[in-house]
Formats: sequence, C-alpha cells, structure tokens
Amino acid sequence: MAAEPPAVAILGAGIAGLVAAHELERLGHSVIVLEGSGRIGGRVFTHRFGSADNAPYADLGAMRIPTGHALTMRYVDELGLTPALRPFRTILSDPNNYLATGRGFVRVRDAAGPVVEDLRCAVPVDSFRRDTVLFCAWLAALARAVGPRALRTGLAAEITPMLRAADRVDLSSYVHGPADRFDLVGAFDTHPQLREACGVRLAGFIDDLLLETGTRLRYLAGGMGRITDRLAARLRGPVLLDREVVSLHVRGDQVLVGLRHRGVDVLSRYPVAVCTLPFSVLRELQLAGLDDDKREVIRSVEYAAATKIALHCREPFWKRAAVSGGASATGGRLRQTYYLPQDGDPALGAVLLGSYAIAEDAAPLGRLPADRRHAASLEELAGLHPELKAPGAVLGAASISWGDHRWSKGCAAHRWRWGKDAAAARAEGMRAARPQGGLFFAGEHCSSTPAWINGAIESALAVTGAVDAALRTGAADRAQRS
Ligand SMILES: Cc1cc2nc3c(=O)[nH]c(=O)nc-3n(C[C@H](O)[C@H](O)[C@H](O)COP(=O)(O)OP(=O)(O)OC[C@H]3O[C@@H](n4cnc5c(N)ncnc54)[C@H](O)[C@@H]3O)c2cc1C
Repeated sequence: MAAEPPAVAILGAGIAGLVAAHELERLGHSVIVLEGSGRIGGRVFTHRFGSADNAPYADLGAMRIPTGHALTMRYVDELGLTPALRPFRTILSDPNNYLATGRGFVRVRDAAGPVVEDLRCAVPVDSFRRDTVLFCAWLAALARAVGPRALRTGLAAEITPMLRAADRVDLSSYVHGPADRFDLVGAFDTHPQLREACGVRLAGFIDDLLLETGTRLRYLAGGMGRITDRLAARLRGPVLLDREVVSLHVRGDQVLVGLRHRGVDVLSRYPVAVCTLPFSVLRELQLAGLDDDKREVIRSVEYAAATKIALHCREPFWKRAAVSGGASATGGRLRQTYYLPQDGDPALGAVLLGSYAIAEDAAPLGRLPADRRHAASLEELAGLHPELKAPGAVLGAASISWGDHRWSKGCAAHRWRWGKDAAAARAEGMRAARPQGGLFFAGEHCSSTPAWINGAIESALAVTGAVDAALRTGAADRAQRS
C-alpha cells in the first residue's frame, strides 16, 4: 500500500518553516518541507571558514539574540543550546573600539570630547548643562553609528528638542567613568518622557538603538545555524532541498504547488501548505486564486537590504591594539566592524566582520561583485587597521548582499517605517498572515516583530494553531460526510 501523502507542505526551510514543521509534527500531523536553495536556515546562515567543526565562522545573517526575545530563548533552551549562550559584545562596548568622528577615528575611551564637538558643529549647545550635552552627543554618535541613513540625515533637527527636554532633568548619575560614557538605557528607563522629545525618526529607532548598543544581547557559540540544524534534525518528515517553488495556485480545497527540481517542473497538490517565502520573493512567482487584498499586501511589503562581509584573518591582530572584542563604528561604506569572538581552534585563524551595513547603506558594497566587494572592504578597513595589508594576513573572505540574495531579496521586512507604532506593526503582520483557502502564511513579515528570529517564530506558532484547527475541522467534515 502506498504511504499516505503528507498533510502539510511547508514551503521554505528557514526558522519559521522549521518551527512550524516541528510544532505540527508534535500535534501529530505529517509534514514535508520544501526548500528552494541547497541549504537549510534561510536568513540564519553560519558561514564556516573550513570544514572542521571548530573552524572559525561568521554569522552572515542573524547573529544576536535579545534576552527579552522569549520565543527565541525558549527554542534555544528546548534544543539544548542554552549552555552555548554568551554575552554579545556589541558596537562600541570595548573602550578600545574605534569611532569615526569629525576628528577622524578615536578610541571610545577618548571619544567624549570629539562627539561633543560633532554635536556642537550641528546644533548650538552652549546654553545647555554639561550632562545634557553629553547625553545628546552620545545619543547622536550612536544613532550615526548604527542608524540607517534616513535617520542620520536630519539628525540635528531631531536632537534639538531633545536638548531642551533633557536639560529639565538631572542626568548626572548616568555619566560614568573617566571616559564620560553615558548610560543611555538607564536614562531612558528612568525618564521615559525623554522619548516623547525625540523627533519622529529618532523615536521610531530608539528601541533598536538602545537594544543594539546595550548589554541585553546574547550570541550562540558555534553559530546561530545550530538552532536551525537542530530543529531540522528533530523532524520526522523529509526536508527536501533544491525544490524551488515557482507557482502557487489556491483551487477549491487544494493548494497546487509548482516546483522546480534540477530544471524539471512538477505540480504537487496539498490540502494545506504553509508559505514562509519572503514576500519579496513570493511576488515574483506565478500566483493564482488569491484575493485582491492578499495580492496587494504581497506586492507592497517593503524590504530593507543588508550586506555583511567577513574576513578570515590569520590571527586576531586587533588584540595587539588592545581591542578585545565589540565593534568599531567605522562609517564610510563599511559602517560597522565586529571583532568576533574566537570560539574555535585559534590555530585556524580568527574572523573580523569587516562590514555590516543596513538599509540604503548596504548598496555601495553590496552591489559590487563578491571579489571586488571583498577587495574594496579590505582597502577601506586597512585605513584603520593597516595590519590587514601584511602578506598572508587575510586568508579568505565571505559575504552576502541580502538585498540581491536570490532566496530573500532583502534582509527583512522594513521595521523602521517612521511613525508606525506597535499596534500598526501587529496589524500589518496579521494582514500579511491572512490565509487563502488551504494556503497559510508565516515568516518574520507575518509577525508583530519583523526582522527578528523571534518574529519568525511567533508567526510559526500562530500558523501552527490555525493549520491544526483547519486540519481537524476538515477531518471532522470528511468523517461526517462518509
Ligand atoms: C543580515 C541579517 C542580520 C540579522 N540579524 C538578526 C539578529 O541579530 N537577530 C535576530 O533575531 N534576527 C536577525 N535577523 C533576522 C532573522 O534572520 C530573520 O527574521 C529570520 O531568520 C527570518 O526567518 P524566516 O523563516 O521568516 O525567513 P527565511 O529565513 O528567509 O526563510 C525562508 C526560506 O524560504 C526559502 N525560499 C525562498 N524562496 C524560495 C522558493 N522560491 N522556493 C522554495 N524555498 C524558497 C529560503 O531559501 C529560506 O530558507 C537578521 C537578518 C539578516 C539578513
């Protein structure tokens, strides 16, 4: 007797697809996962420089987990990976990291004066208290370091009302150390009214800014790919690679999935399919049987780009310059440079994430062919780290320009649409997730927290419940009819 066909086809083996598959199996359903590329993980992508298990690596997609992301933490724990969680040393967290300022590169420990000078060049500050000026100067410096270009442009206008509001509160206890660093997280936690003083762009980025530059981030030793690898290993049903979805047709109580495998197109029918393909990819496929609103949301979800360039170095030369980790705000085309932790065998080298650029900043290096992109990033970074020019210092490079990546066509659904509040983000996610007959949708773009693994998992759990209910209702209907 032929085996029962799987009840659910999961389209895409990223974190959303794998969590949905895992949870549906837990509820007793049979699944098949169909992945277009030759690897699982999607935008969770650990690149290893070498085949050894302990070879140096870089996470070219997701690399950090905020401690408040309960769903991501839950899966890390269920998969037995909690012991591998480590504090993520973020940008400018090491006093010896470098910051690009109007005076050139300065060490963080020496940056208070230059960041105040930079602020003074942009807005008049002399009538404000010293603590107020330091607060706004560090805020502006961090926004320039990690913010998208649209935020950096016109930052002066956003900071001016903040100077006035901050001058009304006592911020002296948030200035710390001989370097006059400022505890922005503490200041905003204690004085939430300061958020209201931000201009609309800064207000829309403030949570990201505090998260990305604070201490509430973790990384996974061995790479984030361990999460998706372990999830896939737990599945009973097959995960088939090189199965590109080329068309989707919702017809009656069936979903017709057009698949391309080794150049051959086949049509498969499923009672239920869960599509986790980013809408940036989905809108280029042949789609039929979807209502107008669904077509519109698939067409209109905006995606931000990102480019990451990792350099495999013979040794962590930055340690000789007393940089023990963290990241420099390099600016230029590179934007951010991370001195990655060495979890592997030190004899196999160390990895520098030479460039991490997001949104509009991703294009200048991202649009170059990979070899020229790597050469250009090396040339630019050698201005700060001339050690890179020494013969044999760089053993290899790997990068992804996510904006052009065939299987993503973007880094993530845009989370910085200025002026959008949490309720609007939730409503957008729900609209994106709305099913069509037996075709369900999941993925970070279908969640209230797009651009995070946590959002992708949230969407996968929601779709699991909906699919389970639909399958049970369908089974009950069939039983009643027979
Ligand atoms: C550079 C970068 C940095 C990030 N940093 C972080 C971070 O630090 N922390 C964090 O939590 N999140 C981060 N994210 C976001 C996080 O990676 C994503 O939100 C999450 O991985 C998305 O999962 P997903 O399953 O929704 O989508 P994907 O992972 O994109 O899964 C979709 C799957 O569908 C497949 N697919 C595409 N087209 C087809 C097709 N035609 N046929 C079949 N299969 C197809 C893809 O190959 C992919 O495997 C980052 C993302 C990027 C790109």
